[in-house]
Amino acid sequence: MSFSSNAKSELCRAEIGKRCCANAEAYGVLLYCNTFSQHGIKIVTEHGDFALRLPKLFQKAFGVTFDDAPSAPSDGGKFVLRIRDREKLARIFDAYGMREGGEVTLHLNRGVLEKPCCELSFIRGAFLAGGSVTDPEKRYYLELETTHMKVCAETFSLLLDLGFSPRDMQRGGDALIYFNQSDQVEDFLTAIGAPLSAMGLMEAKVEKEMRNAINRRVNCDDANATKTVDAAQQQLAAIRKLRESGVFESLPEQIKQTALLREQDDTAPLAEIAAMLGVSKSAINHRMRKIMELANR
Ligand SMILES: [Zn+2]
Repeated sequence: MSFSSNAKSELCRAEIGKRCCANAEAYGVLLYCNTFSQHGIKIVTEHGDFALRLPKLFQKAFGVTFDDAPSAPSDGGKFVLRIRDREKLARIFDAYGMREGGEVTLHLNRGVLEKPCCELSFIRGAFLAGGSVTDPEKRYYLELETTHMKVCAETFSLLLDLGFSPRDMQRGGDALIYFNQSDQVEDFLTAIGAPLSAMGLMEAKVEKEMRNAINRRVNCDDANATKTVDAAQQQLAAIRKLRESGVFESLPEQIKQTALLREQDDTAPLAEIAAMLGVSKSAINHRMRKIMELANR
């Protein structure tokens, strides 16, 4: 199961609370689902737990049953829940202060969300119907998608009022609200009732940061090793030059010793050569520089 569908399962395990909250959650679902019009309601989801929650939610909110509420997904692997009955639709419209008849531009009636508990229930419903969250292994990203521009703008300001810092954009004909910061996604999931998923995101983040730190360390060690080898090759070339020009034999004993050790092992770090000769690394460093200098003369 994807991270997103796990988060939705966690949300669906939560009890459907007070009637006011059921009403608000259903409102979020309806404003973010596939179809919500006077001709009917159509909610399409791949999520089995959500498909099972919806009838209970609508029962509690409006005392209304779905005309179609399949217990198994259709051929396409999706659950399609429908209400076409005019009387049921009228009750639902009524609950949100919407007039029946004529095309309505859907918008979020903040009057429906009386209390703070209801505001978060609304967001939960919107997320269940029109939201998704990316696996934190890939990136930190959560979005809410609706075809209704006004609903998007009003949900945006609701989120601001709730202390979030959402962003918005358009994709095709859809209006999107999204979060792309790990702490924002975490806070959002916690607030709407998925604290375990939020914790999972936090853990994934810590793990990723640790892995990155280790990788940086390994890369850094690699870079150092490469540098050591490069330097050793230059030192060897210098020693060869000194030998070919006949200068080598007349060099001070200490420098000759150092050069011999380098010739014996072209991968030995300077610290190792220093240890073999029982002197400091900086002394060896100095002698190597001297060798390079003499060879360049
Ligand atoms: Zn409430």
